[in-house]
Amino acid sequence: MKDCIFCKITQGEIKSYIVKESPNFLAVLDIHPHSPGHTLVIPKEHFVNLKELKLELAEEFIKMIQEIMILLEKVFMTNDFTLGINEGPLAGQTVSHLHFHIMPRFKNDRGGSIHSVVYNPPQESLEVIYQRIKNES
Ligand code: 5GP
Ligand code: ZN
Repeated sequence: MKDCIFCKITQGEIKSYIVKESPNFLAVLDIHPHSPGHTLVIPKEHFVNLKELKLELAEEFIKMIQEIMILLEKVFMTNDFTLGINEGPLAGQTVSHLHFHIMPRFKNDRGGSIHSVVYNPPQESLEVIYQRIKNES
């Protein structure tokens, strides 16, 4: 897609530090790493978000994530990671091309858990929330 920075990266138009490549994905070092080894797994095809990802690519996507984790474990001597996707602008997505963050974690690295990215507990009870979801499914 025109003007997409990650399409430019996957097409080799912009330089990046490529950690690993598979037929449909690229793993590159994040340009502003939040931890040593902070890597992004990016599909070569332009999908905005996880919902758009073709299901036939899901296994290759997970495999790439696992392989990067194994590699980073060896290099940085840690078994711990924060893994995830900022899905949509309200969740902090700044590049509208699907990408999966792999962040190695270390003792006293001044980070938190996924729980620390939001605290907006519902006013309604869990029962009401559950029923709203079940009514739709
Ligand atoms: P988001 O906030 O959308 O989940 O994350 C986008 C990520 O892409 C950020 O962590 C940012 O540092 C990274 N990023 C933005 N532009 C570039 C770039 O040109 N090259 C690389 N390697 N990473 C980038
Ligand atoms: Zn793109």
